[in-house]
Amino acid sequence: MSGFMILGGGVAGIAASYTARTLGVEAVVYEAGNRAGGLLDCFQIGGYRFDHAVHLSFTKNKTVRGLFDQVPYITHHPVPVNYEDGRWLKHPVQNNLFPLPLGERIEAIESFVNRPDNGEAANYRDWLLHQYGRYIAERFPIRYTRKYWTVPAESLTTDWIGNRMYRPALSEVLQGAMSADTPNTYYAEEMRYPQKGGYRTFLEPMLANADVRCGMRAVRIDPRRKSVEFADGTVRHYEFLISSLPLPALIEMMEGAPNSVRDAASGLWATSVALVSMGFTRPDAAKHLWFYIYDEKIMAARAYSPSLKSPDNAPAGCSSLQFEVYYSRNRPLQMQPDHLAEHITDAVVKIGIAERSDIAFVDTRTIPFGNVVFDHGMHERRETIRAYLVTQGILPVGRFGEWDYLWSDQSLMSGRRAILKLLLQGRP
Ligand SMILES: Cc1cc2nc3c(=O)[nH]c(=O)nc-3n(C[C@H](O)[C@H](O)[C@H](O)COP(=O)(O)OP(=O)(O)OC[C@H]3O[C@@H](n4cnc5c(N)ncnc54)[C@H](O)[C@@H]3O)c2cc1C
Repeated sequence: MSGFMILGGGVAGIAASYTARTLGVEAVVYEAGNRAGGLLDCFQIGGYRFDHAVHLSFTKNKTVRGLFDQVPYITHHPVPVNYEDGRWLKHPVQNNLFPLPLGERIEAIESFVNRPDNGEAANYRDWLLHQYGRYIAERFPIRYTRKYWTVPAESLTTDWIGNRMYRPALSEVLQGAMSADTPNTYYAEEMRYPQKGGYRTFLEPMLANADVRCGMRAVRIDPRRKSVEFADGTVRHYEFLISSLPLPALIEMMEGAPNSVRDAASGLWATSVALVSMGFTRPDAAKHLWFYIYDEKIMAARAYSPSLKSPDNAPAGCSSLQFEVYYSRNRPLQMQPDHLAEHITDAVVKIGIAERSDIAFVDTRTIPFGNVVFDHGMHERRETIRAYLVTQGILPVGRFGEWDYLWSDQSLMSGRRAILKLLLQGRP
């Protein structure tokens, strides 16, 4: 019997095990994959390394900094950009409209000035119209929402926005429409990335002091007997269970979960990400740390450069990019991997990033859980599941356990908080 059991060896599960051990308590993590890291893991193709989508740390949390900063890192001062129909615009577009033709800038400003006062926005579309006016909203974020969230903006609530969407004053919109010389208003001034080994290296100080058992896929949980069965047939008992598995998957494997909870779980859904990773045989294919793509004809919503994050991610004299294509049960991926690779290759040539002859390889793979979708009713469904898990003595943690838009530092703290709570209170 291992008193504390943790399901899932991403940053949340690792942080829980690490925190327990620093307090002299053993808490074993069971991870389905063949090594720990979850979304923060990376993969290598030849001398090129790619993370699972863009990952940079901008945390201000002292506990997380205390852990991540033990690893030698590179500090970036990001200047993200946007690509739209042959043009590059600084990010965020709403206060960087200068590259647009004069008539379009005037239209954008007029519509910003006359934007509707929606009071309490009922959905994300209303919120965008109220913040930016119809012209900017429809041309940029509403269009981007279809690519990134795979739903129309009116399907989303607004409570996930936080500081993710910049809300400029009229003077800032005017300045950005009249001049290319604008201050950087991106919400993170500084972003950190390990010098070597990819983003996962930030986990190493914790991994050195955590107990993670890999190749252990949980398939059934019996909360009455307090046991978990794994895919290889082994059964382990626990006293306290922490789970970082996606809530729908967790409920699916729980013996005796009532239908109301199963219904709530099947109503939760997330986007998936197809990663199209490219190695280039020249050093300068990647010009931007990352950029957003608005054109709906190009399936990728965003791209970043692993080789700009750290030169350790590509062979000397080479560079790399990774494109993120979002899909979901609402909008399935409509291309086979080969076609997707070809589609992104075409886009790279069209955008003017590189020639086909510069490309060393194109790799396509998928991440099943990317971003949880904040559609209407999600909070109620999530609450139903949370309330049930408390009655079963299970603490859900991390991005897919909390079912929230958590950055890596927040997922780490979620795992840490859970084990501290159990140690202090002796119950979830
Ligand atoms: C596209 C994208 C970009 C991001 N960019 C950033 C960024 O720039 N900066 C930042 O700070 N954060 C970023 N994040 C957020 C960050 O990745 C997450 O907050 C964090 O990695 C989540 O960690 P976790 O442990 O909660 O979940 P995960 O990493 O998903 O870990 C869950 C683990 O559970 C395992 N598992 C699943 N099923 C089972 C099972 N049945 N049995 C056993 N194990 C199982 C999985 O293999 C996985 O290892 C990004 C996320 C995405 C999707």
